[in-house]
Amino acid sequence: SSALVWFRRDLRSFDHAALSRALSAHERVHCVFVFDTRILDTLADRADRRVAFILRCVAELNDALARLGAAAGVTGAGLIVRHGRADEEIPRLAAALGVEAVFANRDYEPDAIVRDGRVAAALARMGTVFGDCKDQVVFERDEVMTQGGTPFSMFTPYRNAWLRRLEAEGLPSWPVEPHAGRLAPLAPGEHLPTLAELGFAPPPAGGPLEQAGMSAGGTLADGFFARIGHYHEARDYPGVKGVSYLSAHLRFGTVSVRELVRRARETGGEGARVWVDELIWREFYQMILWHHPRVLTHCFRPEYDRLRWDDAPDLLAAWKAGRTGYPLVDAGMRQLAGSGYMHNRLRMLTASFLSKDLGVDWRLGERHFADLLLDYDLAANNGGWQWAASTGCDAQPYFRIFNPLAQSERFDPHGTFIRKYVPELAGVPARWIHAPWKMDEAAQRAAGVRIGHDYPAPLVDHAAARARTLARFGAVKG
Ligand code: FAD
Repeated sequence: SSALVWFRRDLRSFDHAALSRALSAHERVHCVFVFDTRILDTLADRADRRVAFILRCVAELNDALARLGAAAGVTGAGLIVRHGRADEEIPRLAAALGVEAVFANRDYEPDAIVRDGRVAAALARMGTVFGDCKDQVVFERDEVMTQGGTPFSMFTPYRNAWLRRLEAEGLPSWPVEPHAGRLAPLAPGEHLPTLAELGFAPPPAGGPLEQAGMSAGGTLADGFFARIGHYHEARDYPGVKGVSYLSAHLRFGTVSVRELVRRARETGGEGARVWVDELIWREFYQMILWHHPRVLTHCFRPEYDRLRWDDAPDLLAAWKAGRTGYPLVDAGMRQLAGSGYMHNRLRMLTASFLSKDLGVDWRLGERHFADLLLDYDLAANNGGWQWAASTGCDAQPYFRIFNPLAQSERFDPHGTFIRKYVPELAGVPARWIHAPWKMDEAAQRAAGVRIGHDYPAPLVDHAAARARTLARFGAVKG
């Protein structure tokens, strides 16, 4: 018997639920990845970093599958790659190969659920089974619920219940080895597409997440586990190598979340404990999106759907360009534009700044992040934005408004990160780096920058913006 494994956000050849299950139940196993035109066509930027990143992951996966096949005596195994609508390509390929089953790891995003439903229905009409597996999370959907059987809306009790379940059940592993089955050789003529064939151009170079694929994910993870003991102290400082930078690898499944959790728990200590909490946040927001798909377009807390945001295209454009006049906000926005990554502290700060200092609807910022983040994940991005804008579940209370100046002084005390990403301010001494508009003319001359000319004066006064935000929220709280 034969099966097809459909790779999506799980671009690895180890600890892989769908591949492991297919190999244990079928003699011949084919593997496929589809560059889905229904996703690619929505990308505004023809040099989108994610397409190049995925293509590199796919190439490495193809090589790894060839090696796995060879180890079991099969020459010419690898990854079939298609470019088209996944909901058409998968049933067509399954029919052409004559497989009895198609396996895939579950994806919890609303569009993916619809797509998989279509594929499952088409396969069922052909008498082919669609087997979907839990893989990209430790606990999914309704596996961690309140005692009353309802979904959690607060993180801490969810986290506690998640950890209790982990203690009770432990972590499964999905070894990929030739059990009963073997990988099938590729048909003659199968080849990987080029970026140009997919209709894309190479993205600009740069960024901490440039390294794609399982090997890069493994190297990043090894580096991180060597310093995880400091994570809880270092993670809030964007200028320090404190976080793991694994987000894109978690997004595309070039690392296994189970292995990461296992390794963190084996390492132990406060840093590892706090880091596992972050992985639990990832699952918390996926659970929220699954139970409340309305958060896609609405505030989690319905009363905040009545908030009246400002229509301020110029402010939004300045924010996107990293020209708000608040150096750490601008540094974060430029890190995003230049690399496709932004440090978590700066995601919180820039999101808060857009919604609470500029009064712009969080959905417009969410969209911008979705366009640029290499690690873009619908659930985490939506959750993060609704947290920062105070419209979400377990969000920052609306009256807690980040002061961009205080955040800058606290989390980039020497201005190292600012100077790296805002080169106009490279010559500004530490005492002015967080508020360069306070420099007099002589200080500006000495620093080699003219505020309002080379670098903008602040777009808004924080105290006034804060008062407007309190009034905006106050109006809907009645
Ligand atoms: P680490 O600190 O090393 O964390 C490890 C992993 O835990 C991350 O890779 C991520 O998978 C997960 N994680 C950490 N924090 C969170 C969180 N708050 N919510 C959910 N998962 C988390 N994360 C994304 O993966 N994709 C997004 O599109 C995304 N958008 C965000 C938007 C906003 C406004 C905010 C405030 C946060 C967003 N995050 C998003 C969460 C977080 O900022 C990133 O996961 C983190 O910065 C990635 O860097 P890292 O891998 O070095 O993180």
